[in-house]
Amino acid sequence: MLQRFINKSLITRQSYGLLTKLRFNLNHRHFTSGTTGPRICIVGAGPAGFYAAQYILKTLQDCKVDVIEKLPVPFGLVRFGVAPDHPEVKNVINTFTKTAENSRFNFYGNVTLGRDVTLQQLRDNYHAVLLTYGADQDRELGLENETESNVLSARNFVAWYNGLPGAENLNPNLTGKSVTIVGQGNVAVDVARMLLSSIDDLKKTDITSYALETLVTSKVEQVYLVGRRGPLQVAFTIKELREMLKLPNVTTQWRAQDFEGVAEVVDKLARPRKRLTELMLKSLNEQSVAQPQNKKQFLPIFMRSPKQLKDNQLIFTVNKMQQDKAISTEKEESIPADLILRSIGYKSSCADNGICFDNQTGRVFNEHGRVLKSLNDTTVDKGLYVAGWLGTGPTGVILTTMNGAFGVAKTICDDVLAKNIKTDDQKLGLQDMLKSHAVVTWQGWKKIDEEESKRGLLVGKPREKIVKIEEMLKVAGV
Ligand code: FAD
Ligand code: NAP
Repeated sequence: MLQRFINKSLITRQSYGLLTKLRFNLNHRHFTSGTTGPRICIVGAGPAGFYAAQYILKTLQDCKVDVIEKLPVPFGLVRFGVAPDHPEVKNVINTFTKTAENSRFNFYGNVTLGRDVTLQQLRDNYHAVLLTYGADQDRELGLENETESNVLSARNFVAWYNGLPGAENLNPNLTGKSVTIVGQGNVAVDVARMLLSSIDDLKKTDITSYALETLVTSKVEQVYLVGRRGPLQVAFTIKELREMLKLPNVTTQWRAQDFEGVAEVVDKLARPRKRLTELMLKSLNEQSVAQPQNKKQFLPIFMRSPKQLKDNQLIFTVNKMQQDKAISTEKEESIPADLILRSIGYKSSCADNGICFDNQTGRVFNEHGRVLKSLNDTTVDKGLYVAGWLGTGPTGVILTTMNGAFGVAKTICDDVLAKNIKTDDQKLGLQDMLKSHAVVTWQGWKKIDEEESKRGLLVGKPREKIVKIEEMLKVAGV
């Protein structure tokens, strides 16, 4: 009928384009829908969840996407990981908000998979379920007294300054002069920068007020950043290093012996690694020209693996490099450490027994985002998908997570369109089931957002985060 209409009408090229689009949409609708269209549930409102929702809503014009989120507030590590002094990174929230304002999107905040709903319930009520609940644990070093009070995980420290509910009572002891951070990734550098930045700079950010108060009284002067491998293998990136080097009133001090042979290979490196190494070498060379020493120092140290904790010292095994591998030697070195921050990566956990979780790799067992039935049965568990850090492991910036999530979202859409998963029966979603649960809707989140911005305005910050779940629920009107 549409074709007849197009043929009979005298139409311009522009309106023909519009009609073609309409015809595509109608075909699409016919192709993808039963009576109500596909219903898809996404677990976790971080970048992976939002980017996947964006793609699915755009591609499947008649689908509905429900996102359940453990916390009353959305955005995952964009809110609780990204450093307070990197507000530009948080601009992705504007894109996520646009997605959330789509009438076919629903947010169910304060709903935890494994506590409030089971995976089976989600599978019964949706045509497809996408797991994007991230990584909320941390890797451990395996040292004997790693649970001593002067050893904290960087994950908890980050959660503390960013106001993750439950982290507000961490009370890191910043009364000593030295902090040793184990690991040389961008999280380690974020933490070092937070410890060494000036209070005047931090107080204009959305750092929690209790963290700011503790940092005001901090006595920390030396921050060591210790890696088990060499300068050619650091995991931090150039932008983050540049920031450290420019930090006012902080001296970066490298150890020349760590760079033996590095200048000789720099030209052979691939471009990003080459530029990063050149920057380290430049900074090393400049430090030999007498430079004023600040009290506050950033001290990267290489080829040291933590071995033992002793009083306020961390004893390291001295390594030597063989290609990209660290080989331990008989030698040891101890580094002062009033506080030790373990920053060797995050770790995912299994939220529900129905998930095929691979403890070995710390990921949901999957092939290109399609979850597999079990470690022994590698056939696809139809209708169940995984994206983000939960599927890839805990590395990658937001852009990497976005690309991965788009890829998995495309797989879901392809499976729906090819009828690899059944979508012609009616699915009810969770609305009725969660009737008596304290759900925070998108409107509820908007109220929290407004209140936080209002409180921030009073103290010259972009927002003052609410950190208690009960208070969030109250403000959301739940
Ligand atoms: P997450 O962001 O962790 O989202 C997972 C969501 O699932 C969370 O909201 C969580 O509350 C929710 N959830 C957990 N369990 C459940 C459950 N059982 N039921 C329901 N919901 C659940 N990248 C950059 O590009 N720039 C940066 O400056 C930057 N800074 C970072 C700083 C830190 C400290 C860290 C750790 C990472 C940083 N990244 C940065 C990387 C970026 O944060 C990640 O790439 C991205 O957040 C991963 O997204 P995700 O959706 O997989 O996980
Ligand atoms: P990461 O980049 O994987 O770095 C982990 C560090 O820990 C590496 O230096 C690693 O060394 C070391 N490590 C691991 N196991 C160790 C052990 N047993 N003993 C000693 N050292 C060990 O992880 P991350 O810093 O947690 O960051 C996660 C992701 O978020 C990264 O992709 C990062 O870029 C991103 N992020 C980005 C930003 C930003 O853009 N500003 C900020 C924060 C985080 P080896 O290399 O030897 O394994």
